[in-house]
Amino acid sequence: MTDYKHLSQRLKLMAHPERLRMLDVLRRNPECVCHLEALLGRPQPYISQQVRMLHRAGVLKSEKLGQNTFYRVSDPEMLAWLDLVLGAVPVALLGRHETATACVCPQCQREPVTLYA
Ligand SMILES: [Zn+2]
Repeated sequence: MTDYKHLSQRLKLMAHPERLRMLDVLRRNPECVCHLEALLGRPQPYISQQVRMLHRAGVLKSEKLGQNTFYRVSDPEMLAWLDLVLGAVPVALLGRHETATACVCPQCQREPVTLYA
């Protein structure tokens, strides 16, 4: 049975430029809110709100490491949809952290190498 309500809810989550950008980042590598903030150039409350929405919908999984909570796309259905919409993530970029300039997140502090240099 096709669950039209469920499917349209998922489409709604994707049908938003900033959320789609976040999903694109979070399907590659787990990231924290402060990293998304630096990457998207949006204020923290805005990012938190979008992350909360995706998390509540069951699309993101969170993992707390020290002071930071890292989010990643965990839903296999959403991952498949993102592959269709955005193209598959190149293997070389899977699990790779995209360093943002002026980001103070632990991952950016650890690897000061810019991925797209
Ligand atoms: Zn960062």
